[in-house]
Amino acid sequence: MQSFLSRKAQAIEPYVPGEQPKTADIIKLNTNENPFPPSPKVLEAISGQVEKLRLYPEIDGETLRCAIAKNEGLQPDEVFVGNGSDEVLAFCFPAFFNADEEIFMPEITYTFYEVYATLFGNAFRKIPMIDTLDVDVDKLLSGSGGVILANPNAPTSKVLPLETIEKMALKQLEKGKVLVVDEAYAAFTDQPSAATLISKYPNLCVTRTMSKDHSMAGLRVGYALGQASLLSGLIRIKDSFNSYPLDRLAIVGATAAIEDVAYFNDCMSSIKATRAYFTEGLRARGFVLPDSNTNFVFCRHESVSGKFIFDELRKRNILVRRFDKPAIREYMRMTIGTQEQMKTVLSALDEILK
Ligand code: PMP
Repeated sequence: MQSFLSRKAQAIEPYVPGEQPKTADIIKLNTNENPFPPSPKVLEAISGQVEKLRLYPEIDGETLRCAIAKNEGLQPDEVFVGNGSDEVLAFCFPAFFNADEEIFMPEITYTFYEVYATLFGNAFRKIPMIDTLDVDVDKLLSGSGGVILANPNAPTSKVLPLETIEKMALKQLEKGKVLVVDEAYAAFTDQPSAATLISKYPNLCVTRTMSKDHSMAGLRVGYALGQASLLSGLIRIKDSFNSYPLDRLAIVGATAAIEDVAYFNDCMSSIKATRAYFTEGLRARGFVLPDSNTNFVFCRHESVSGKFIFDELRKRNILVRRFDKPAIREYMRMTIGTQEQMKTVLSALDEILK
């Protein structure tokens, strides 16, 4: 049949997000959502905005940028906000990378990067991992164009130390190229954030999401941190695409969440404690996994196939994530839910492995 789609729309292979099941009785550990609700202050802030919905929101999310800047010890013009970090990351490609200069990215990482590169017509190269899970930093830096990576990385849950990120930023600076560090999971690691390097590196862009750490996947808020001159590229792309990517509810809701530091800290401690409990439980049952720096673990069983365990968990209404890539076929990525949920998962695994 005749197609009316552009060649690009016909050819592109879109990113495949984790399943969003309709049934309520599922233990949903497949998309790294936070098991806790957002801060109660979010509801308060959002309800106050309903009457104002007839008006367009702030064009640049200034209220939220100021709150984030204060938290990070940066200036408001060193923060750019967008509709989920997916959108912020998407803007990075046309903002920072020339189409004909290969972008280097790790082979095992967030698969959206290659989708964006394809969409925006950027040449790119995927750099093979060392021993399946480790980023090959030297090879990643061996090109002449931009570099993008997630740190902590997904789905491996491993983190590179700040010194390594600084080395990367410096090498990229010497080349006159940008380094994008996707810190979607930064709140779950004890490693210092690359945001602490921003004053030294005008070529460093750090992206974050409020989906996981602030329990707001449904509100769609992400942001980038960097020097104002660099972020001006993101603003130029945004203003050529959508003037108001953050709606009024998102701006005030996210601001309230950022300002409720005590609630945030409680939530993080709780997830980290459950992660330690679950990691120990998995290892005791024959699973192999690196220490996690994220709100998920990336594990395989020493003798039972990943697909078998995945399917058996699914039968018991427990949804985790598997990736159909040869190198990590045996692995599962399991989000850290509540202590109670993870206890249920461990009991299910006991049954499955019997
Ligand atoms: N980066 C990484 C590494 C992720 O895992 C995700 C979540 N899928 C995102 C970015 C995007 O997050 P969001 O668009 O919800 O802000």
